[in-house]
Formats: sequence, structure tokens, C-alpha cells
Amino acid sequence: MEAICSCCGRTQGYLNPLDDKRKTHVMCANCLDYFLTIWGGSDASPDLELSVNPTFRLTVGRRMVACNSRAVAVLGKSRNTMSGLLCGEFMGCDRAHLPEGCGLTVYCESCVIRRSLAITAETGKNQERVMAFMNMSRAGAPEFINLMISTRKAGDLIDLEVAGM
Ligand SMILES: [Zn+2]
Repeated sequence: MEAICSCCGRTQGYLNPLDDKRKTHVMCANCLDYFLTIWGGSDASPDLELSVNPTFRLTVGRRMVACNSRAVAVLGKSRNTMSGLLCGEFMGCDRAHLPEGCGLTVYCESCVIRRSLAITAETGKNQERVMAFMNMSRAGAPEFINLMISTRKAGDLIDLEVAGM
């Protein structure tokens, strides 16, 4: 798979399996520097630790600023690797591997996660325990995962709590 920068789209390298024509996303050093300059480091925010579920603090553009320890444990990725990535990218949504990318494929129009985040961003209203699903490939096999998500306003940012991962 070609690894491209989530922000600038530049190729960063190739990851196994090499014959997989899909894309995967990372942050290039320049884009990550810029992101961290604006949003600060991705240290855990103590209030996110109160949640028993994986919880992510996102920009209104759906990029990760912080997350709790449960999210790190469940996804098996460090905060540094996830920082700045779009939610479909760090959560491993199969749609994010398509050329259009997270939020821009034909499937994304009906994405409940994207829509709930947008409602909270636009109206300030929290969306509590909404049924959502995600196509993920875990251990190489495609899976259809049922999730229950909540989106909550956190200042200029939005918290996304995900149960069922
Ligand atoms: Zn970049």
C-alpha cells in the first residue's frame, strides 16, 4: 500500500502488502509540525480518561488532537501516529483507503460518524449513543462493525466516543 500524507497527499513510502493498490495515511513531518503548532501536542486530556470507551478529541475538520488511553489500547496505535489524521484514517475505515479518502467517497455521504460530528460542529448539540457502522479490515479480513457513537462539543473541538470497537 502506498502511504500518503493525510494533509498534503505526498507519497511517504510503501507498506506491506505491496500489491495492495489502496492508500494508507500518515502525517508527513512538515504537516505534523504545522498541525502541532496550531493544536499542540497529542497528550492525553485528563477529562477524556473519564470515558470507559475509546474517545477522541477532534477538530471540526475531523482530525485527531487527543485521545484517551482506552483508544490507544483498542486501536494499538500511539497518539503520535494518530495525531492529525482524519477519523476514518486512524480508526481504520476501509473507505478511507479509497482514492478519494475519508469523508469524500460515495459511501461517506451516509456515514453516521461524519454526520454526527457535523451536526455537533454546526449546532453545538451533542449526539448521544447513535448507531453507526464501519467497514474495517482487521487481520486482513473485511469486517462490518457495529458501533455506538456519541459526539460532544468540547470548546472549539469535538469529542467522539466510540463503543463497540
Ligand atoms: Zn504532508
